[in-house]
Amino acid sequence: MATQTQGAKEDLRHILQRIDGRGYPAYRDLEGTYRFGTFQLVIEHVQSDPFAPPSRFRVEMGLDRTGIPGELYADPVRRTAMEDFILRTAHQRLKGWRQRRGSGKSGLIEITEPSQVVIPRSAVEIGHSRLTVRFVVGLPARGRTVLGRQAEEMILEDIPAWVEESFLWKSMDQNNARDHVALAVDQAALRRWMAEEKVIAFVADGAILPRESGQSDKPMGRGAVPFRSPESLRREVRLPSGRSVTGLAILQGITLICGGGYHGKSTLLRALEQGVYNHIAGDGREWVLTDPTAVKIRAEDGRWVRGVDISPFINDLPYGKSTDQFTTESASGATSQAANIMEAVEIGATTLLIDEDTSATNFMIRDARMQALVAKEHEPITPFIDRVRQLFDEWGISTVLVVGGAGDYLDVADAVIAMESYIPKDVTAEARRVVEQFPSGRKAEAVGPLPAKPVRKVRELGRRPKPGDKWKVEAKDEHLILYGRERVLLQAVEQLVEIGQTRAIAACLRILTERADGRSSLAELVRQLLVEMDQKGFAALAGSRGCPGNLAMPRPHEVAAAVNRLEGLKIV
Ligand code: ADP
Ligand code: MG
Repeated sequence: MATQTQGAKEDLRHILQRIDGRGYPAYRDLEGTYRFGTFQLVIEHVQSDPFAPPSRFRVEMGLDRTGIPGELYADPVRRTAMEDFILRTAHQRLKGWRQRRGSGKSGLIEITEPSQVVIPRSAVEIGHSRLTVRFVVGLPARGRTVLGRQAEEMILEDIPAWVEESFLWKSMDQNNARDHVALAVDQAALRRWMAEEKVIAFVADGAILPRESGQSDKPMGRGAVPFRSPESLRREVRLPSGRSVTGLAILQGITLICGGGYHGKSTLLRALEQGVYNHIAGDGREWVLTDPTAVKIRAEDGRWVRGVDISPFINDLPYGKSTDQFTTESASGATSQAANIMEAVEIGATTLLIDEDTSATNFMIRDARMQALVAKEHEPITPFIDRVRQLFDEWGISTVLVVGGAGDYLDVADAVIAMESYIPKDVTAEARRVVEQFPSGRKAEAVGPLPAKPVRKVRELGRRPKPGDKWKVEAKDEHLILYGRERVLLQAVEQLVEIGQTRAIAACLRILTERADGRSSLAELVRQLLVEMDQKGFAALAGSRGCPGNLAMPRPHEVAAAVNRLEGLKIV
């Protein structure tokens, strides 16, 4: 990289003419920075052959040159929305382009495809004075021979045309851009209102919660029943744009979502899980917002657990195995769910989202009959029902819980919502009557207060690679990271929405592997790195080949979740 070209557009043309017809590696000569009229083109990394991952390109343009009004990116909320809008435009414009010009990935120009959420991504970043756009290009070849003329067409004509169409204010859909930013501003205002009013989740009237299919995050089309809040729990909020929204406000504390099977309970909970992110207009969940620290908790038997204090839930294991630094290579349903809760608390969750469908029954409840049959001293598990109130009173952690069967939970709920044919009813008062009429007969099993909130100092994430080692961390798919030879399974980490987040998490694991030294806590390490990303952009994650254009911002919770699933994680 030291001998990179610095030149003008014409120099690029000369190189391409010179290497036309030569072997593919001659393309390496292109790496460098070139001045075009309104922008700079940086060819960061050239692929080694036509079948390798495509080459990494970057466009840099002065923000003043784009003509985008400054007020549309004046603060972090607007900036993220505007970046997202630009990416959607750029991605849209590439569709329907002639995309093949020879073997392998020849002729391909590709930019990250955004999902339904609005989050920072490395593909488009608005910095202090510059717009940075990262994308990939399949440099064209016939067999393994450079097709210089086709490359000239792509780089000197197609890319500049795409830049003109996508990144200049005059060619953008300006009304849509303003609406996109206004929506984000309103969503941020609604989140502020929620925090002030102690509301942990808001679901607007008219929201469309069900999705097209298990595979698609797009809204269900025909047949979707729009959300309608029960009057007693309905709130109205006026937003900066002048519009107001009405909807269900779920308050801090313990909320049950009950109702018959197939009546939309899990669908509502899933929408709440995703409400930690802002969604685009038309998604149906634009006004479904949740405490941004909310974490979905589920059973995950078979997972690794490293030095987690699960003693509030599990104690006195057979043969005296201690549980205040619990370690296992294959957790049970109950121990995994306990570990997931303690880890979520450690990284700062203030809301837990739990679905009975994906919970371990023995973790959730031990009813009166089981209490009579099996004495407490023979049962290591203190069920969640006996800790959920303390979690709120002592640690300030709210829970939203879907229960179809475990009626004993009515004893501990602050609010009870029943789903009936996809429409929620407020049945809190009725539930109180039921509790009086049919006492559960069970005895509370929690003994004593909760310990201090968990904090673990990290000695190492895994063995540090020696210089020269072929050691890689990479995202294989949205829910799988390869960490050296180790497979880090993230199937149960359900609030990942884009593979770009998983890639960013992989980059975080690489950096945190270097940083862990036994002095900082896991939460400090993760938060510090995310602060750096906030300040420096995705460049904070750049590796030896620069910063790829396919990263997306994860939450600290999901970064920590990956760390927590490492085999070699060592706690002080
Ligand atoms: P539960 O958890 O109560 O058993 P689910 O949330 O799994 O129910 O929903 C059952 C089915 O109903 C799913 O196929 C889901 O897509 C569909 N569904 C959920 N909510 C709605 C809605 N508002 N409109 C139409 N269909 C819905
Ligand atoms: Mg369900």
